[in-house]
Amino acid sequence: MKILKEKDIRAVEEAINLIWNEEVRKIFASGQIEKIEVALFDSEKVYLFSKREGIRSFKKVRKSVLDYNIYKYKHKGKIGDKCYGMGGGNPLQGFDKILKNRNFFFIPPMTEFIKIQKRNKNKNPWQTKEGYIYTIIHEFGHEYFSMHSNIKEKSRGLIKRALESYKGRKKEIKRLPLRPHSLHELFAALTEIYTAKTFKSKYYKDLKKFMQKKLKKILKSKNGPEECFDDEHKYAYSLALLYINKYIDWYKKLLKEF
Ligand SMILES: [Zn+2]
Repeated sequence: MKILKEKDIRAVEEAINLIWNEEVRKIFASGQIEKIEVALFDSEKVYLFSKREGIRSFKKVRKSVLDYNIYKYKHKGKIGDKCYGMGGGNPLQGFDKILKNRNFFFIPPMTEFIKIQKRNKNKNPWQTKEGYIYTIIHEFGHEYFSMHSNIKEKSRGLIKRALESYKGRKKEIKRLPLRPHSLHELFAALTEIYTAKTFKSKYYKDLKKFMQKKLKKILKSKNGPEECFDDEHKYAYSLALLYINKYIDWYKKLLKEF
């Protein structure tokens, strides 16, 4: 049994407060972040942080920060251990039907998340409260990018053109498109890193140290540099600072990149 504690709820509230900070809201220039809901889960319930008044199948627990409400829902799913160590993902099958057509993401309780991150022998920046809070910011970035980048429609359009080309019609591309999931990951990583940098957070220092070690190791291995770009997370975290240094309006540019 993994039951969340009050401090787990407070940690999510801290992340929400950061998201709505004026400096951070610049990233979300296309708006609608009030639609993004956070689904904090434990082995018995899902706690939804939402600005809406009343949600079907959910019971209101209390008011939260910045006019958010906390709702609870008793679930019957069995959540795998692995799900407690990461943000996003889908730990509860079928839950999508309950919150149909909504913009939300799942997040485990901070205490469980840190426990699992600490299983890694090597120190990493996600083994602290700050690491957890910035993981929530990262997921906000993903959800916002899903809402505004139209990557699904654009990918569909591209596949249709590819199909036409195989039917013998003369179709071309202007330039080689980047992989949509790499862009998704880059946007999320930058949301998190930009916010951490803005607040001069310890997480930013920890992440920089961690990435230096990681990149040195990659350079030493034979296929490391090439394989680094196969993994969306490694791709995003490796290139994050290079991209942000080149484009100060990265949050607008990335939405149009694909
Ligand atoms: Zn991600």
